[in-house]
Amino acid sequence: MKWCKEMPRKQEKNIKICPSCGTIVEKPEKTWHLTSPLPDAQGRITITIMASFTCPNCGAKWKGVLSKIKVGGQEVEIEGGAKTSKLADEEKTERPGEIIELDIDDVMNE
Ligand SMILES: [Zn+2]
Repeated sequence: MKWCKEMPRKQEKNIKICPSCGTIVEKPEKTWHLTSPLPDAQGRITITIMASFTCPNCGAKWKGVLSKIKVGGQEVEIEGGAKTSKLADEEKTERPGEIIELDIDDVMNE
């Protein structure tokens, strides 16, 4: 299955670490989210969770991406955290809007 391919091993920069002094700030001062207006190839919308931090040690302020959530289709994918939930197999990609239904009576009357 495509979705369970191994994640890249690169070391993600921890957004909670103060860029100035290295203090770990667990609680963001403020969080908000940005919703991408365009769905991706799978028809999913990406919601980016942003956060701003203030270092209690040195007073530095910074902000960055806390997490990304992809919603839509038949699955929810959360990036940036340990959680990745899967609601349904990706094989089931049929979309209601793409099904063309023929009225059998119309066909028979031709
Ligand atoms: Zn600091």
